[in-house]
Amino acid sequence: MLERREEVLEMEFGDWTSMGYLLSAALFIFGLKQLGHPRTAPRGNQLGALGMLVAVLTTVLDMQLEGGAQWTLIIAGLVIGSLIGYWMAAKVQMTGMPELVALFNGFGGAASALVALSEVWKYLEGGDIPTGLQLTVTMVAAGLSAVVGWMTLTGSLLAMYKLKGGISVFGKWIKTPTWGPSWLNGVKILLLISAAVLIYLSIDDPTNKQYIYSLIAISGLLGIILVLPIGGADMPVVVSLLNSLSGIAAAFTGFIINNSVLIVAGSLVGASGLILTFIMCKAMNRTLLDVLFKSFGGGGEKQSLTRTKVGSDSDEVAMMLDGAQKVIIVPGYGMAVSQCQHQVKEFADLMKEKFDTEVSYAIHPVAGRMPGHMNVLLAEANVPYEQLIEMDEINSEFPDCDVALVIGANDTTNPAARSGEGPLAGMPIIDADMARTVVIVKRSLSVGYAGVDNDLFYMDKTMMLFGDGKKMITQLNNSIKEI
Ligand code: NDP
Repeated sequence: MLERREEVLEMEFGDWTSMGYLLSAALFIFGLKQLGHPRTAPRGNQLGALGMLVAVLTTVLDMQLEGGAQWTLIIAGLVIGSLIGYWMAAKVQMTGMPELVALFNGFGGAASALVALSEVWKYLEGGDIPTGLQLTVTMVAAGLSAVVGWMTLTGSLLAMYKLKGGISVFGKWIKTPTWGPSWLNGVKILLLISAAVLIYLSIDDPTNKQYIYSLIAISGLLGIILVLPIGGADMPVVVSLLNSLSGIAAAFTGFIINNSVLIVAGSLVGASGLILTFIMCKAMNRTLLDVLFKSFGGGGEKQSLTRTKVGSDSDEVAMMLDGAQKVIIVPGYGMAVSQCQHQVKEFADLMKEKFDTEVSYAIHPVAGRMPGHMNVLLAEANVPYEQLIEMDEINSEFPDCDVALVIGANDTTNPAARSGEGPLAGMPIIDADMARTVVIVKRSLSVGYAGVDNDLFYMDKTMMLFGDGKKMITQLNNSIKEI
């Protein structure tokens, strides 16, 4: 009996690597579940980070390193990587966060592709080339990891510069192009076929390094021409697709190095990224194939403005707000730029206290520059979650709403989207134009991300409060306090 117990204990402790991986996979899954709600999201993030720590420690211990040199390399890598990561995360402005996420996606894809490459290299240099089914599985997994990984790197770098709007070279601002003639779709398909042929050839002749170099070049090019035509309203879809691809590359690499936690973590990122991609597609009224092959948002040229509009001042707007029974706040990218979420929360509190007004927030799924951008900012200012209402749910309330207060939102309120033409065609919008009065806070009449002029600014019932979001909402709050 005692012997049997010892045997069981031995089995459990003997397989500690699997236990470590199981624990980290469980932490990833619980973390992901908690990321589903803003209230539990910070804890979800911590669980995910803990899961990664357990995975790294288990892997390093499992390697049973011998000698100080190997340990030195691993520890130096961990320290340098952590320092760079900490420096980047601490330095980034809130508005630069989407670009940083795009960059990290790219690095994730490249890291997976590099690990797969080093594994194949090990076989080639050591002459220890697998045969039969093992060779096929290794070369197919390495090939797919290379295609997805390198494509994710170049695509994400381009997406990052598209989100930034351009790149500064020797002080000269060069705008990121959006370019996609229809023949480019043929090139995409040709490159995909060439990649498949190269993977097939590398199984036949695994020692030929030319195949590997060609596959890397083709995959890098594919990433660029996949993202190049996408612009305007379709960028959110491509950002979440690249996020998903970085996970898929990791999962393929997990198969090559036979690491179960990499397969689990990669699949989780890949699957959740794909789900998010489809949610974004639905929100933008697109299919994924349309985004990838029809380049809706293409063109990229900003419309020039021909109309003018006289601005209002905060006292005028405060007087109009006195007596409003229902106000809906529509936040957009400009709120993130001016970081005025705390002043916006103060405005909502003042309206409730002074005029007993019902205030809620209309959240467009692609407002800002990353999925959930507005929710994160408003949660930071302690806006109650119940007041954040999704576009589909709140749109029917605008005809009964006294004032729609639009703060730095543009494309997501632009009625041009209903026309079926131009970069915003078909994108569902917040029906702010249906409110009795519209107040818009932004610095000028200039266009939003998709470069389309906005009729909402010129409507008779619209009052423009021209200026930086934080400054104007602070002024408005002061004017309300004086009533
Ligand atoms: P937009 O980008 O359309 O417009 C933002 C507006 O904010 C600008 O017109 C600008 O006008 C104003 N603004 C900028 N700075 C300030 C400031 N300091 N104070 C006040 N206003 C300011 O915003 P939306 O949120 O409506 O739309 C998001 C767009 O981004 C969509 O086209 C979406 O497809 C795209 N996108 C979204 C992603 C996502 O995942 N959410 C990812 C990639 C792209 P002015 O200069 O006059 O002040």
